[in-house]
Amino acid sequence: MKKTFLICILSIHQLISAQPLKLYDLKTEQLTNPLGLDITQPRFSWKLQSDAMNTMQSSFEIIIATSPDFNQKSEVWKIKKSTDQSINNKYEGKPLTSNTRYYWKVTVWDNHGNMTMNSPFAFFHTGLLANNEWTAKWISATTILSDSIHYQSPLFRKEFNITKPIKSATLFISSKGLYQAEINGAKVGNDYLTPGWTSYNHRIQYQVYDVTNAIKKGNNAIGVTLGKGWFSGEIGWINHSNLYGKDLALISQLMIVLADGSKVTIPSDESWRSSNGPILNAEIYHGEIYDARKELPGWFSASPTSGIMNGVWSNVKVQDYDTKTLIGTYNQPVRKREHVKPIKLFITPEGDTVIDFGQNMVGWVNVKASGNAGTTINISHAEVLDKKGNFYIANLRHARETNTYILKGMGEENFEPHFTFQGFRYIRIQGYPGPIDLNKFEGIALYSNMDQVGTFECSDPLINQLQHNIQWGQRGNFVDVPTDCPQRDERLGWTGDAQAFSRTAAYNFDVQNFFAKWLQDLSADQNPNGAVPHVIPNVLGKNAAASTGWADASTIIPWNMYLIYGDTAILHRQYSSMKKWVRYMEDSSVNNLWNNGFHFGDWLFYSLNDDRDGRSAVTDKYLIAQCFFTHSVKILIDAANVLGYKDDVRYYSELLINLKSAFRREYVTGTGRMISNTQTAYVLALNFDMLEESHRAAAASRLADNIKSYNYHITTGFLGTPYICHVSSRYGYADVAYKLLFQDTYPSWLYPVKMGATTIWERWDGIKPDSTFQTETMNSFNHYAYGAVGDWMYRVVCGIETESPAYKKSIIAPITTDRLSFAKSSTVTPYGLIQSGWLRSGNAMTFAIEIPANTTSTVTLPYLDASKIKMNGAPLPADKAIFNNQQATIQVGSGKYSFEVMK
Ligand code: BGC
Repeated sequence: MKKTFLICILSIHQLISAQPLKLYDLKTEQLTNPLGLDITQPRFSWKLQSDAMNTMQSSFEIIIATSPDFNQKSEVWKIKKSTDQSINNKYEGKPLTSNTRYYWKVTVWDNHGNMTMNSPFAFFHTGLLANNEWTAKWISATTILSDSIHYQSPLFRKEFNITKPIKSATLFISSKGLYQAEINGAKVGNDYLTPGWTSYNHRIQYQVYDVTNAIKKGNNAIGVTLGKGWFSGEIGWINHSNLYGKDLALISQLMIVLADGSKVTIPSDESWRSSNGPILNAEIYHGEIYDARKELPGWFSASPTSGIMNGVWSNVKVQDYDTKTLIGTYNQPVRKREHVKPIKLFITPEGDTVIDFGQNMVGWVNVKASGNAGTTINISHAEVLDKKGNFYIANLRHARETNTYILKGMGEENFEPHFTFQGFRYIRIQGYPGPIDLNKFEGIALYSNMDQVGTFECSDPLINQLQHNIQWGQRGNFVDVPTDCPQRDERLGWTGDAQAFSRTAAYNFDVQNFFAKWLQDLSADQNPNGAVPHVIPNVLGKNAAASTGWADASTIIPWNMYLIYGDTAILHRQYSSMKKWVRYMEDSSVNNLWNNGFHFGDWLFYSLNDDRDGRSAVTDKYLIAQCFFTHSVKILIDAANVLGYKDDVRYYSELLINLKSAFRREYVTGTGRMISNTQTAYVLALNFDMLEESHRAAAASRLADNIKSYNYHITTGFLGTPYICHVSSRYGYADVAYKLLFQDTYPSWLYPVKMGATTIWERWDGIKPDSTFQTETMNSFNHYAYGAVGDWMYRVVCGIETESPAYKKSIIAPITTDRLSFAKSSTVTPYGLIQSGWLRSGNAMTFAIEIPANTTSTVTLPYLDASKIKMNGAPLPADKAIFNNQQATIQVGSGKYSFEVMK
């Protein structure tokens, strides 16, 4: 067992070859070979792998050129620097030009005198850096067929002739609404739900595709279908449409360079044609209705068939929308990520034909069917079955989540929707022609194409399922924006949920650009008085703003991202938004106390219906507000320190002291008791250092007593949950935190696991112990907020923490428990993979640790007998470690370590 464990945890990097120093994962603005970058000074990052321990970069040389052979003439920047900086190295060469591919390569030298021998090269392709380079015009269809149920997705088309051989072709494209483009009958790119969701009135991302291989000499056609999506479809439970406008519009600019160097541009303009296609309706919440009989064969290809010749097309309308809102795409697009096979077909007691995919997921189902023309198949989606085993859709509220396919009757037809997505584990099938064959159905999970970077595993299968549920909750709710849930008529970028989960999210997936993009929408949608809307993009109106713990996403997330990815640009970019939010709270306060306004509070805390002895865990909302206000101010000070804004540091440091004093006056008794005797009250006060030093230990013990009084059940809602285990372990109650983690009756993290959950639930008791449901008005089975405990599992159980931004210096300080025989986790940091795991056998414990090249770490391990600690098989020299309180602290450089201790 021990051997396998070590082999497992140490093996991943052995895959990377045995050269002394090797480069890998070259990234421009955190992306691999991005297309359409509109940043004029992009940053370059790379990772290093070395077989030698204690490896640090000592210098690098980078060359950037417009030609992949890096000939001198094509060079735009070449620089050699003596530095250990291997991430975010900013371009400082000749001004970049639009629509140009730049290649770059780097050579690195290390502190052992090694030099990288492999020189992989990377590239980035610039977007349109000046607005006037958009020659394309926004175009809309003139004849959209619509009634109260339908809004037929318009098709657009342009045929063009290329007379000479082609060197390269690049498509710049975006839309008001969602688009799917095809060139000569083949889909452009692998992205879905493009152009994604942003604060459309201020920012619309355009995508760039290399379509060189799709264009040929001779006749070509580009065809595009638009859907309402977030732009004009129904968004929000209040049933409103056309939030950003009514007319769907396309902008498309195909830029071709011919072999002789001449250029041809095919812009969207009045010469394009439009028509109505087979998508009779497409709504994010409700699903899609697709009538295959209405397909226009040839629309997307050159040499149209008779359908088009017969004049099914109309002219387009050129819109005078400007192009200033267009920006390059900064985050990873939504892609098809997992293909999930069904596990079971069955008939419910109510007689429905249902397929179970075994996993609650987000995306859609690919369906194959053969039948007569006009046969109508309905696929409805649900997350759960009810107590009796029937298909349960009441919790979807008014989202229909149904795709309808009407066959054209030509052999086997293959369907999947285009401009919608569903949250589901089960589908109900109606109208399917012939017997159902499970092989004709495939679940497809779609989400932002962020790399999965984290793993966590331990000896308890329930905790492993919890980790699985956390990661699937993230997959389902990171669909271009961080959503609360993916199934009901909501799916909005709720700020509170996002901030609560943001650190866990970053352990599991690379969310750097995902959040960086969303935070720019947060700034764009922030009210002029600084109030941050409850949801971003804001679709609820400007009064839906400024709730404590929600609006603080504006400070908490940028800071978390800075810590994890070490990118000061995010602080630069967000600083004024952070400051505006703090200013709003200051303006709303009287005598440094913020005790007014609407707040969601500790949302979904434990509460009872018939609460005779006051066991519901209600925390005063203004107490919470003062805690988050203070926390945001603390973050602002830290950010100002990083950015060198000394006056702000001074001003906000004074404010911080005043806020804490006001808190103590208002909410803490002379003996340190809080006015709300709840887990959340103590957790927030302790986590944000609100209490006098002299009161903290007693408060921590009150928290532990409170948890014990609920028989080690958690009673916190969205705001207390992320910190409860952290506060417990920080104040010496790791055993209490573990008891919470291992608790498996309601309310607890493992209760839903025991009830068969495959994602994190919105409520601790979405399905009650008697198998009935919580209220149908708010009961999502895929809501990541409570999954925030994942952060504690990585950060404390396995002890992986960043000491300086981006884990340039890390801390490895696991807190073990007797209830697990092993735990191991890993996460890919900007410098490479960090791993930490421990294995117990009797009194002996082995810790296996890996620290990436160009970083160092402070490792702290528990022990009983200092003289028996071994590091990589040899006794640990006494001068190598500091021994304190049964803990040994050792400074290490990069490499793989195995420590053996007696405990
Ligand atoms: C959402 C939440 C959100 C909350 C506001 C709900 O409807 O699903 O997750 O944070 O409203 O309290």
